[in-house]
This record gives sequence, C-alpha cells and structure tokens, in this order.
Amino acid sequence: MPEDIKSMYENELKDALAAMGEPSYRAAQIYQWLHSGVKSFDEMTNIPKRLREKLVNKYYISSAAIEKKLISAYDNTKKYLFSFYDGETAESVLMSYHHGYTSCISTQAGCRMGCTFCATGKSGFSRNLTPSEMIAQLQTEQLDNGIRISNIVLMGMGEPLDNFDNVVRFLHLVSSEHGMNIGMRHISLSTCGIVPKIYELADMKFQLTLSVSLHAPNNRIRSRTMPVNRRYDMDQLLKACRYYIQQTNRRISFEYAMIDGVNDSDNDARELASRLKGMLCHVNLIPVNSVGGTGYKKSKKDRMKSFISILEKSGITATVRRTLGSDINASCGQLRRSAAKEEQAE
Ligand code: SAH
Ligand code: SF4
Repeated sequence: MPEDIKSMYENELKDALAAMGEPSYRAAQIYQWLHSGVKSFDEMTNIPKRLREKLVNKYYISSAAIEKKLISAYDNTKKYLFSFYDGETAESVLMSYHHGYTSCISTQAGCRMGCTFCATGKSGFSRNLTPSEMIAQLQTEQLDNGIRISNIVLMGMGEPLDNFDNVVRFLHLVSSEHGMNIGMRHISLSTCGIVPKIYELADMKFQLTLSVSLHAPNNRIRSRTMPVNRRYDMDQLLKACRYYIQQTNRRISFEYAMIDGVNDSDNDARELASRLKGMLCHVNLIPVNSVGGTGYKKSKKDRMKSFISILEKSGITATVRRTLGSDINASCGQLRRSAAKEEQAE
C-alpha cells in the first residue's frame, strides 16, 4: 500500500528523501507542490522525471472528488459531498463572508458520538479522515471556485477530538509556512466535549478558537440529547473549559442549538447563565435544524429573544448565529445521509 505523502510534515519528507539519496531542497519543492493542490506527481514540473517515478511507486496523493454540489440561491453558500480513494464520503460547506471565504470541513466520515439532534450522528461512523483528506477538501473547493480560503472551521461531519492525532497533524500542516499558511487564529475547532482531549489540546496552546457544543443547561437534558455527557458530565466539561481558557487565554464559544420545548425555557437560560458566570466565553444560539426522524423543532423567535436577554442580563454575551445556506440544509450530515438513502433505494 503506497503511503499518504500529503499527510507528511516537511521534515519527515526531508528524511524520506534523504533516505532515497535526494537533496533536502527537493523536499521543500515537493511539499509546496502538494499543498498547492496538485493531483499527480507529473504536475511537479521542477522535479526530475526519475524522481517522480520513484515517488509514484512509494506514495499516493490524496484528493477529494466532488460527488454532489448544492448552491444556495440566497447567499451563494456551497455544500459539497466529497468522495475519497476508497469511496467513503464526507461533506463540506463553503461560505462567503465580507472578510473572505470560510470552509467548514469534515474530520471523520460519520461520527460515533450519536447526538440525537444530529444528522451525522444518526448515519453512524465509517472511518477517520486523514490529515491530507482534510486538506484535500479545502483544495478542491479552492480549485472549483478559483478562490483562496482564509478561514477554516472543523464543524463538518465527525468529532475532531475523536480523531485527535490526525486533526493535530492537519492543524500543523495547514498552518505551515510552505503549506496553505492559514494561521491558527483563522481556525475554529468544534467539539462535543471529549474532556481528556480538551486538556491535551489546551497544553498545546494553539491560538485557535475552541467551540464547545453544549446544547443544554444541565446533565439531565444534556445526557438525553448527547450521549457523550454520560461519560464526561457538565462539571467535568466546564472544568476542562476553564483550564483551556487559562492555558490559551482564548475565549471559548459555546454552541447552543435551541430546541422547542427541550432546552429553551427561561429556567434553562438562568441555569445556563449561572454555570457560565465569570467565564471568558460567548454563547452562540442556533435554531435547531430539524433532521428527519428526530421530532425536534426550532424554538420560537420570542423564546430565543427571551433566552438571550436572560443570558445578557447575567453578563454573558450571546448571539444568534446567522444561518447561511438554509435552503440547501447547509448543516452537515444531511447530504451524505440523503445520498446513502438514494443508494439504498436503487
Ligand atoms: N462533532 C463536533 C463538530 C461537528 S458538529 C461537535 O459536535 O461540536 C458541528 C455543530 O453542529 C455542533 O455544534 C453540533 O452540535 C451542531 N449541530 C449538529 N446537528 C445540529 C442540528 N440539527 N441543528 C443545529 N446544530 C446542529
Ligand atoms: Fe458527532 Fe458533533 Fe453530530 Fe454529535 S453533533 S453526532 S459529536 S458530529
């Protein structure tokens, strides 16, 4: 089985080339080609043919092929279903903001966390994505649109901290000077709350933005909608978040999907406010996206207003997240799920 060359660090590539008797400047050249998005070694025009032939025998260049693409009529948000070398698929969403392009990419094909409101959670888990497959999602979007992506959010399919080593490697690669050079401050990572990994990430002191999917004010509600809470409860989670803030000095963003009658009462808001009091944080309220079969409905507008005002009165900043691409079900998991259904129906 050939090796995944685009997941290698530049210094690893240097060592591998040295072992093949090649000078180290070749590693820099090849690394830059890989991260500029070439799909074959033949495109590396400044690399001699004999070396390209050696590389083809030893390595493969991973790519993300477009299986499906939906474009929002409202705001030009684009949603992709990508397939990888083994036919596995994952979704990504490209959004255009005034400050540039943001891509929301997947870190796993599926997810094993099983949150009850989430389309990805419902479709099960296939496998982890490699660092190069995370990069390939960005590269295909750049090529397909003739643009440069400036911001990345790890909020597509999958739980990034359940694929920790690959995600950390991706973060190093994508922010490297000879790679896509997207700084950590332009990257957000969203987690459902795998506590030990939050500590590990905190100790790495990356300057990325950590988003924590909270979605509930207490263990009773959270354990019902997010099975991960039965393993790591809210006290453990918020303790880890405080440690993260202390280590990185970065504000945490808490995601809270408002579900009608489940987690959106005034009491829920007060309980949430008291738990988050004094933390360097921000709460992002999102009207839940109704996913078939869950029975969950979006909270009413006046509920959201009331919820937000209670949080703000307690000194916690909160916003309602702008939803882009609402006509194409831009939140992840839904396209892959419907594609799988189509296949079953054939
Ligand atoms: N696994 C990570 C990141 C991927 S999910 C996590 O859970 O944080 C990205 C975000 O979408 C998370 O905040 C998740 O809770 C949220 N989400 C999932 N399903 C949703 C739905 N039906 N409506 C609104 N948000 C949803
Ligand atoms: Fe996985 Fe995140 Fe969906 Fe939960 S919300 S099932 S952790 S992708």
